[in-house]
Amino acid sequence: MFKSLRWRLTFWFVVLTTIVYTISAAFGMWLFRVEMTSVIDEELYALVDELRPAIAIKKGKPNLQEWAKTAPLVPFKLLPTIQLYDTNGNLLEEHGPSGVSILFSSAKQEIKAEDYHIRVLSLPLHEGKKLVGYLQLELSLRNRERATTQFVSTMGLIFPFLVLGLGIAGYVFSGKAARPVEKSFGILQRFMTDAGHELSTPISIIQANAEAMEIEHESGQARENRLAVIVRSTERMANLVKDLMLLSKMESPQLTTNKMSLDLEKLVRAAAEEFEELFKSKSITLNIEKVRPASIIGDPDAIRRLIGNLLHNALRYTEASGVVTVELEQAGRVVKLTISDTGIGIPAESLPLIFDRFYRVDKSRSRTQGGSGLGLSIARAIADAHKGRIEVQSQLGKGSTFTVFLPARM
Ligand code: ADP
Repeated sequence: MFKSLRWRLTFWFVVLTTIVYTISAAFGMWLFRVEMTSVIDEELYALVDELRPAIAIKKGKPNLQEWAKTAPLVPFKLLPTIQLYDTNGNLLEEHGPSGVSILFSSAKQEIKAEDYHIRVLSLPLHEGKKLVGYLQLELSLRNRERATTQFVSTMGLIFPFLVLGLGIAGYVFSGKAARPVEKSFGILQRFMTDAGHELSTPISIIQANAEAMEIEHESGQARENRLAVIVRSTERMANLVKDLMLLSKMESPQLTTNKMSLDLEKLVRAAAEEFEELFKSKSITLNIEKVRPASIIGDPDAIRRLIGNLLHNALRYTEASGVVTVELEQAGRVVKLTISDTGIGIPAESLPLIFDRFYRVDKSRSRTQGGSGLGLSIARAIADAHKGRIEVQSQLGKGSTFTVFLPARM
């Protein structure tokens, strides 16, 4: 799929740049011709200015004989044919290279015939108010046409190399462009498989119990037990779906949380109070002595969830008689929340993975304790959404420390 995407991107890159190249070349050629034609016209008009005063009128007809005798050796870059015509269009004189002996009617034009292609400038000559003849300058456009052909053939010669170069560049760049898409697609695919797998377990449990209830016509305690299993599995599915929705909300770039000024100390103390009984029932000491005043701008529900997830993990992965310590402090622009435990710890190789969705060090342990493997992904997404970050330090068998850094409210 991505290979074909890469080739498709390369193909369109080459097609589009070829179109741009062709349009630019055609425009360049047009501009080049316009420029050359205007240079030719300038030369012709300059020559007209030079010739006009030199034209003598003899017996009612224009004459350049005198000028021809003394004419400099044509100081012009381009060599035109100079012609004089009488009022009937008969050629009287011709100087310079041999031209076309026809008096052309309009003042300035381009004439193309089988054996010539010229730029012509014809001007009427007067004696007083009386028309006495015409001055006509003709300049071959051979040079302009040759230059244009050369321009086109150079562009044509470059073209295959350009397409090859563009193809290679396009292939390299589209590979680079497709890589993040490929990576995201891989993540999405893995996520879908994991989510499907997580949901398939409670679904199978519900299905098996419901079918058993239908066939076996159980009654009393057995039926109650099956119903309880169904309810637990449904709850697990509901929680999983809720977690997934929260995660996608937190990771959405258009996130619109209702952020407000928060007294973080109050939130931390309230969360600790909520968890107090649970810790007590597991004979774990919850230490909140070092919770100091701190305030941030944030979404209260999300921040409560972040604290709750970290406390839940500390509770889940700490054995009886362990200690969980919560610390909070504001140092300048940063608020630091630390939740450390003396629990089972995390193996070093798992540390870079624990924030991944559905990652668990010990799948069965996490699942039996109600973990979905999304707790830390959600915590990190919340920290990210608040422009903060979350770090972990852990030693297997000794305990773990999770530290959340958030921008302080100034
Ligand atoms: P879970 O729902 O499985 O707890 P989390 O995303 O919250 O999912 O955590 C991912 C994994 O990281 C857990 O399965 C567990 O293996 C490990 N973990 C998280 N917190 C702790 C902790 N305080 N002590 C030891 N291991 C932890």
